[in-house]
Amino acid sequence: MRKRKRRSDARMDLALATSMYADGYGCEEIADICGGNSATVYRALKREGVTMRSRGEAQRLMIEQGRKRVLRGQEHWHWRGGRRKVTSGRHNHWMVLHPRSGRASAYVYEHILVAERILGRRLRPNEVVHHINGDGLDNSPSNLRVMTRREHQTVHAEIRKSFATQGE
Ligand SMILES: [Zn+2]
Repeated sequence: MRKRKRRSDARMDLALATSMYADGYGCEEIADICGGNSATVYRALKREGVTMRSRGEAQRLMIEQGRKRVLRGQEHWHWRGGRRKVTSGRHNHWMVLHPRSGRASAYVYEHILVAERILGRRLRPNEVVHHINGDGLDNSPSNLRVMTRREHQTVHAEIRKSFATQGE
């Protein structure tokens, strides 16, 4: 029994859970993404040495961020319903609610959030996130590549060139 519990904790992405907690997410929301339930997330973070917020602090944070209560199921930003598709030109991207924005109605680009979690830091002003397969809605980590704006221009110039050659 105890062994099984430990193993499921070990499978949890602790780096991701820790960064989400620092961003203001609650254990329940983290469990939706990282697996387990709010209790296993709480225990895992505590064992990692994370200073856990008291119930009152967590409540205050949620109100500050415009989240009157923990979002559940369909309302959770990770769910399709919590995403908003935005189109600029021919490009589609997902935007998601993010507590760091400070307002419940504020959306941020999902591919930037995913990339920043992989990097473990915020993007620098000269960095962009490129979708390798050209699908701006596919934010799986293997489809994202962080590069400088200059590198990105080169990559897209090459893509345009190969399309032009194909058409000839
Ligand atoms: Zn690109």
